[in-house]
Amino acid sequence: MADPKPLIVVIEDEAPIRRFLRASLPLHGYRMGEAVTAAEGMRCVAEQRPDLVILDLGLPDMDGLDVVRQIRKWSEVPIVVLSARERESDKIAALDAGADDYLTKPFGIGELLARLRVALRHGAHRGAPEAAAFDCGSWSVDLAARRVFVDGDEVHLTPTEYRLLTVLIRHAGKVVTHRQLLRELWGDEHEDAQHTLRVHISQLRRKLEPDPTRPHHLMTEPGVGYRLSEDPLCLR
Ligand code: CA
Repeated sequence: MADPKPLIVVIEDEAPIRRFLRASLPLHGYRMGEAVTAAEGMRCVAEQRPDLVILDLGLPDMDGLDVVRQIRKWSEVPIVVLSARERESDKIAALDAGADDYLTKPFGIGELLARLRVALRHGAHRGAPEAAAFDCGSWSVDLAARRVFVDGDEVHLTPTEYRLLTVLIRHAGKVVTHRQLLRELWGDEHEDAQHTLRVHISQLRRKLEPDPTRPHHLMTEPGVGYRLSEDPLCLR
């Protein structure tokens, strides 16, 4: 029988970070494999078939973004990027290349573990049937019937608002970049329509959030995109 503990492959050339993860991850129920270079890391991923990859962007032999693109050619394994790069454009590039999430160094173990749980859950659901319902407590979506309820009362969403919401639900807990959202909603030709997106998001907040000016669920990731926050109530 397979070991039930999820296997995480860490591709990172900085020894202190590998040491930190080697000390932390097993304590929280994960097995860990390590690689110091991109080439070694990709071999590790191909051979060990991990449940998740933690990837540093600044590797000695290849840019981490290219590693994401390479792995995505043959694997859907969740990838959480770690990087010292703080620019929004770097986060966007990593997510658009196919990474699942992004953490900026220095990071806390609590935040890392939370991101790992979300990414692992998405990895496990890839290829599985879509969920039938999404429940946030104050609002819920019956995905089969395409109906939305706030405090038990049905609310009307426009077709675009509904599609936008279902894209965010499908990626709940993860950042979805502007480009990913625009592409899913309108196709490639509308990639610059960020303003339109902002309008639809504020409409959704107005209809779903108890206080639209201080959203609890439809969160803005400044300069990057949006994240439907996933508190424990939302899981079903
Ligand atoms: Ca590095």
